[in-house]
Amino acid sequence: AMEKIRVAGLLRTQGLIAGQWVDAYDGKTIEVQNPATGEVLANVSCMGSRETSDAIASAHSTFYSWSKLTASERSKALRKWYDLIISHKEDLALLMTLEQGKPMKEALGEVNYGASFIEYFAEEAKRIYGDIIPPTLSDRRLLPVGVVGAITPWNFPLAMITRKVGPALACGCTVVVKPSEFTPLTALAAADLALQAGIPAGALNVVMGNAPEIGDALLQSTQVRKITFTGSTAVGKKLMAGSANTVKKISLELGGNAPCIVFDDADIDVAVKGSLAAKFRNSGQTCVCANRILVQEGIYEKFASAFIKAVQSLQVGNGLEDSTSQGPLINEAAVEKVEKFINDATSKGANVMLGGKRHNLGMTFYEPTVVGNVSNDMLLFREEVFGPVAPLIPFKTEEEAIHMANDTNAGLAAYIFTKSIPRSWRVSESLEYGLVGVNVGIISTEVAPFGGVKQSGLGREGSKYGVDEYLELKYICMGNL
Ligand code: ADP
Repeated sequence: AMEKIRVAGLLRTQGLIAGQWVDAYDGKTIEVQNPATGEVLANVSCMGSRETSDAIASAHSTFYSWSKLTASERSKALRKWYDLIISHKEDLALLMTLEQGKPMKEALGEVNYGASFIEYFAEEAKRIYGDIIPPTLSDRRLLPVGVVGAITPWNFPLAMITRKVGPALACGCTVVVKPSEFTPLTALAAADLALQAGIPAGALNVVMGNAPEIGDALLQSTQVRKITFTGSTAVGKKLMAGSANTVKKISLELGGNAPCIVFDDADIDVAVKGSLAAKFRNSGQTCVCANRILVQEGIYEKFASAFIKAVQSLQVGNGLEDSTSQGPLINEAAVEKVEKFINDATSKGANVMLGGKRHNLGMTFYEPTVVGNVSNDMLLFREEVFGPVAPLIPFKTEEEAIHMANDTNAGLAAYIFTKSIPRSWRVSESLEYGLVGVNVGIISTEVAPFGGVKQSGLGREGSKYGVDEYLELKYICMGNL
């Protein structure tokens, strides 16, 4: 399969700085592994602060030319990048499945989703307006912030990059991307397509390797005016603190602890299908995955048995096989975390209704799991499990469900299942979450604003609001000319 990627010209293992593919300056490399097999897919450059400084310098000097192009010129380059991603869809998806583990169908879905941000912001580039405020002779214009440092995770190797780079480039910013060390190959392949599309050398740089060192180099640079990050809450807080010294703008997409509330009046088939999708996408490894399934007493037994039946139909395996709907977890540490959460829950009185152990395929495969009678003193309730474990939590009243749902420092996605329109509005508005799905389990799209409240983050990605994160407001008052 890697041979296919090589033939397609999409196997890149070096960083991208100023339009050149470069090794780490000390020649160091790190392995990228297939989580389904343990096979080493490639050795990629392991970079640090020196390479990052050069990438920043390149983004900084390119900023002057890229931001001076007309919106239409930037739009055309982005559109061409979109077309190239779509025409390489199959190969990019294959590469993603190899390094990340998700089933091919999901990988193809992510290529479409990831590419959609480039298409959307190529279009939006032409509609980034300033205002002339009539009564005061003043002129307001919107200016790109400058060089952007973008740090991204492994769970969506393409989309987490395009969601940041699309609007940044559309606004005229230039970017240094640091993809996750676990999934750099998809990022490098996408960057290669950007170069082919005519995005100028230096407008998009990619460095990877020593994360804290690269992160620090981005934070310390006065030329980097903005940090955009998707990843863990702990690292997000560090980056926020580290941005203070140079007063950078910052966008954060951090961890969630999504409640999925199933009311007595829900359509049971819709609720099962929706919560299954919300829980088990990417084997539970997304920040919008349902982390707590709250089920009202009157429907608890019926929902639990229908849900378990649906979970039993999930096929665990290598993502390259057509039948697979659940790939491996990203690595051993992820499996150990799941085991720790399960042990904690069972020691406090929860009961494993399905699964609850490693899958007999070995490696990092874990059985799709349903745990009943979960309560708010358990890790499964308090923290993100990031694995294929569905905790069921019984509740009595709507008020109680809302209270339980909001009883967390996270506030990214929430889901509710009910046939009542008044309840849909009431509960959606009471939930302290940035995104709410009503009777649906998959809600992300490039046309809607994505982002969290509380400790789930700052700022929004996608939609027309997605460009605001990369713009400065400037006020010029002209008089006595
Ligand atoms: P996850 O749990 O999703 O892996 P992380 O926050 O650990 O979340 O990783 C998200 C991204 O942040 C990755 O690209 C990772 O390399 C990067 N990262 C981790 N630690 C640091 C750090 N100290 N400074 C900058 N980036 C970091």
